[in-house]
Amino acid sequence: MCGIIGFAGKEGALEKLMSGLGALEYRGYDSAGVAFFDGEKLNAVKSGGRLCRLAEKLSVSTHDGVTCGIGHTRWATHGDPSDVNSHPHGNGRVYAVHNGIIENYVRLSDFLEKRGYTFESETDTERAVILIDYFYEKENDPVKAIARAAEMMEGSFALGVVFADHPNVVYAVRRGSPLLVSPSDDGNFIESDISAVLKYTHRFARLDEDEIAVLTKDSITFISKDGNVTDKEFETAEWDTEAAEKGGYPHFMLKEIHEEAEAVKRTVKGRLRDGEVEFELSDPVKRKLYSAKRLHIVACGTAMHAGLIGKHAIEKLVRIPVDVEIASEFRYRNPILDPGDVVVIISQSGETADSIAALRLAKERGNLTLAIVNVPGSTIAVEAD
Ligand code: GLU
Repeated sequence: MCGIIGFAGKEGALEKLMSGLGALEYRGYDSAGVAFFDGEKLNAVKSGGRLCRLAEKLSVSTHDGVTCGIGHTRWATHGDPSDVNSHPHGNGRVYAVHNGIIENYVRLSDFLEKRGYTFESETDTERAVILIDYFYEKENDPVKAIARAAEMMEGSFALGVVFADHPNVVYAVRRGSPLLVSPSDDGNFIESDISAVLKYTHRFARLDEDEIAVLTKDSITFISKDGNVTDKEFETAEWDTEAAEKGGYPHFMLKEIHEEAEAVKRTVKGRLRDGEVEFELSDPVKRKLYSAKRLHIVACGTAMHAGLIGKHAIEKLVRIPVDVEIASEFRYRNPILDPGDVVVIISQSGETADSIAALRLAKERGNLTLAIVNVPGSTIAVEAD
């Protein structure tokens, strides 16, 4: 799950952004970046990998005089966790960080390409940012540009946006993904969750669906979907940092159990279009999958237990027999695989050694292999059909 932070206020903004990203690390991420005003211009610095890589890149530039910016830890859904796919995305005039999935990004790409725009990254996010820029060109008004772009976007998003023409202002909008707004003595924040800013403030308000927030050093304005400025009550978080990371639950396990419904929703969201399941599968893979006579789910530990649930669901819905096996057994026991069988590997990291070996064995036998992983670019993600 990615993290967003934004700040408009007194000097020291970059330190606040980096401290916020550090506090959000617990959510998991694969790359990070910031966009900030240095008193003269809008800069974007980003990097695949851990936050320390971003910090190294930043240490060569000066932090003095930075009063406003946005930051992001990414959990890649569209494109590898590379430098170029890291957030913020933008074109010098507008930069944004995004949490979520823009489901109609292919259609938005077509729309923008027809109007002469090109893209650097593989992300859905860059399409959303360029769409904001397209409407900014027309409207010359950040709020109107964001509202018109949001109207065209489908899916879930929390967006923090900065415009070169409007230094020291942070804009935010959200639908489906959470985003909070927090006032503090030094200025105003947006953040994915309160743990990001607890060092500076305990106060927060939740942004409503399709609501836009405009933050300056000393003001926060909320604009509802119908364009009206609205009042909002701020709440006070009683938690300390540790409790905030656990979302108010006494321990992480309980938090994760309560997050399951949301996690499943997020996972399938980007794979549904107009009520139909949509996978980017090539025709030969599709043919083999749709004519499969038997599936073998091969995994380790909790992933194997998830496979047992998968067996029930698949056999009930599709009426194809499913075997579930621990990868460490599968790889050493000369398993019986008919040519039309499909082997499905499940691995959180995509790097589980026994699951990699099982995958390679199935490939050697000429079977179609599919993988369910949580890390794009991992060994299993790359090697599976
Ligand atoms: N879909 C976006 C991407 O792949 C955002 C992912 C996130 O929530 O970090 O870059």
